[in-house]
Amino acid sequence: MFETLTKAPGDKILALMGEFAEDPRTDKIDLGVGVYKDENGKTPILNPVRKAEQRMIETETTKSYLGIAGNKGFGKSVLQLVAGDSVDHARLRIAQAPGGTGSLWVLMQLIKRARPDATLWLSDPTWPNHKPIADNAGLKTETYPYFDPTTGKVKIDELFSVLDGLGPNDVVLLHGCCHNPTGANLTNAEWDRVADSLKRTGALPLIDLAYLGFGDGLSADAYGTRKVLSSVDEALIAFSGSKNFGLYRERIGAAILLAKDPDAADIANSQMMNIIRSSYSQPPDHGAEIIRTILEDDALRAEWETELEAMRNRMISLREALVEAIRQRSNTHDFDFIAEHRGMFSLLGLPAEAVDHAKVENGVYMIGDSRINVAGIPENRVDALADALVAAAR
Ligand code: PMP
Repeated sequence: MFETLTKAPGDKILALMGEFAEDPRTDKIDLGVGVYKDENGKTPILNPVRKAEQRMIETETTKSYLGIAGNKGFGKSVLQLVAGDSVDHARLRIAQAPGGTGSLWVLMQLIKRARPDATLWLSDPTWPNHKPIADNAGLKTETYPYFDPTTGKVKIDELFSVLDGLGPNDVVLLHGCCHNPTGANLTNAEWDRVADSLKRTGALPLIDLAYLGFGDGLSADAYGTRKVLSSVDEALIAFSGSKNFGLYRERIGAAILLAKDPDAADIANSQMMNIIRSSYSQPPDHGAEIIRTILEDDALRAEWETELEAMRNRMISLREALVEAIRQRSNTHDFDFIAEHRGMFSLLGLPAEAVDHAKVENGVYMIGDSRINVAGIPENRVDALADALVAAAR
């Protein structure tokens, strides 16, 4: 039967990782793969995570099933972390899911059930996995203007020229904070305008919240999500605990839905449970129990917030240092936008030849669209990186 298959396209980021590993140069710099790295180039296990795991080992009494929605304490804490007091929680439902990806998968399946002919609008550009997940769910996709590579900013007027013309058959995928791949984000005032627009047009927001706490802080990064929740009747959120808790391989995230009232929430939730039951039955618990333990314990939570802040501040400092080093070399402000961007990434707006130049000549590896992972910059290599980028951009 397999002879009917043709080879599926490989993952470009994984291919780049392979190339980087094989590059013999000792001064190479990996700005490719999207994981946080510390000043030693490592992706560490956070201290509160280790402590929570230790506690789990000591207190766990069973590995029996938890249920389709997963860990109840995790769900309650994550709803508070994401939604705060922006909306009556009786209108919210949450299902723990395998990562932000699994959450997006569940929510897109739900959209397909609710409105089979809906159009899902993705930002141009967006995380490369959004469209494949939508394709998998059988959803039509379109793109809305988002990033201007010549300025490094959001094309805000063009964005609203599309957003304001949508209707109830449309779903808009918004990055809650820390846009991937661009690093360019909406201001609070722009989020207010997005919320107004959604309320007026009846388009359904699907917010991808994969980097909460990686931008300007936990509540600052939740501003847009909370504004939307407080403005509209219905919304969907895909939360990920991969980056902010450093739990990548544990596959922990959550699919969240907001309905117009508790009865409508129960009905939509029953469909969400039905989707999960027929796909992976129940989510894995390990990552959820770690997050529950941390969020419910004042000391562990404080320690987590401190470590999260350190990761965030390191990325902001590296952005500022890189911009300063580029300015000194180029005598221009062409790359100043890197310091205004937030989250782990910046899209530099360089052509493919420049990306290739940086790799071939200087061992600087970034994604082909010129996305850099800021956390991958070693502190003592900022000047070398600036040299390479300025040379490549010439
Ligand atoms: N959304 C975006 C925008 C992302 O960048 C990522 C991770 N790269 C995810 C969702 C999913 O993350 P995960 O499934 O690892 O939690």
